[in-house]
Amino acid sequence: MIATEKALKIILEKVRPLKASSLPLEKVLGYCLAQDIRADRDLPPTDRSAMDGFAVQAKDLTDCPRELPLVGEVAAGSGVRPRVSAGTCVRILTGASVPPGADAVVKLEETQDKGESVKFLVATKLGKNIRKRGEEVAKGQVVLCKGTALNSAGIGLCASVGKTAVKVYQRPSIAVLCTGRELREPGEKVAPHQLRNSNGPALIAALEGAGICRIKHQIVPDDPKILATKLKAAVAKNDMVILTGGVSVGKYDYVPEAVRKIGAKVLFHGVAMKPGKPQLYATLSGNRHIFGLPGNPLSVLTGFGELVLPAIRRLSGFQANECHVTLKLPLATQARNKTNRAAFVLGKLIWSSKGLQVAPLKSCGSADLVAGAQADGVLQVPYGVKKVSAGELVTFTPWRSIP
Ligand code: AMP
Ligand code: MG
Repeated sequence: MIATEKALKIILEKVRPLKASSLPLEKVLGYCLAQDIRADRDLPPTDRSAMDGFAVQAKDLTDCPRELPLVGEVAAGSGVRPRVSAGTCVRILTGASVPPGADAVVKLEETQDKGESVKFLVATKLGKNIRKRGEEVAKGQVVLCKGTALNSAGIGLCASVGKTAVKVYQRPSIAVLCTGRELREPGEKVAPHQLRNSNGPALIAALEGAGICRIKHQIVPDDPKILATKLKAAVAKNDMVILTGGVSVGKYDYVPEAVRKIGAKVLFHGVAMKPGKPQLYATLSGNRHIFGLPGNPLSVLTGFGELVLPAIRRLSGFQANECHVTLKLPLATQARNKTNRAAFVLGKLIWSSKGLQVAPLKSCGSADLVAGAQADGVLQVPYGVKKVSAGELVTFTPWRSIP
């Protein structure tokens, strides 16, 4: 059995980002850039007015009030360039290019419009209310680095430098195999000795939350031959296979055997975490990965958040240190660890007058989806720590995505 930190390290050392492909800008929210994006021109491209007002020569307005004749107008998007010579002014609108001759903009609120002329009430200074050409970024400079996850501002920035498509890392295709002879699909008739497959839908939802849309899912019986055949087919067509159940030491736990039989290399089997001790991770050539998660629903979701999701993020091009997203939050009430492993306790976020806190939830064990459905993620009481008191900081893994 290895520590969760060690398990995560093994995974992140092994997984490499997938190939890049070009996608249209409207499809890349949350994707990681596989190229640097450079400015194709200065931003802003000309000296721009930051205000509605009047373009002037600052030296004309050291002594105010003073009236200047109005000799033209320039609005945003207008290509006209009325010259501001000494002792004159030009009406200018926010975002318009500062006309030749002008070196300051006086905002409308500090003037009185007299029709043919303008009365300036307050003195101004050189450069006032002008956004200089190239102030944000100069032509040719990198505005977004390879590896950056694109948020809405990043997509806006790509558009503003003229991109309609960008190169991003592909996201993995994933097969989910739920093992267990007891399993029936939610719509099927279920006898008392049978169980509805909740892991499949829960994992698909978690995968969709991570932006994965190429997902295949099926139930596989506890039969070593069938399992090996299905696993072989799944690894042939996908970047990752996630199995649930059948990974422990029970008589019908055939996952470790099947994984070895298809030629995958097991990098660990057993992680010092509760829930979810028998976690298995194996690899195949060509950057392909297999996770075996123990069947209990909360073991599945905990293993997914702590180990599988970081691997998916790495495949999707995130930097290794951005693959396991956690927060340090104060505990709302005390949490205990009665095990000799790291305990992952269901946690609910609470927005109180003291700020954001996390409250541990009571659960009846690792099959308790009723408690799980109330949780926003899991908080960790580390190995060797028996109790964490209210107010102390804990590591919290959110189950909702944070970029
Ligand atoms: P296993 O890891 O196969 O020993 O399964 C542990 C527990 O999780 C057993 O009670 C299983 O019935 C249950 N379980 C396994 N797979 C699923 C599933 N897909 N949906 C819900 N429960 C499951
Ligand atoms: Mg089973």
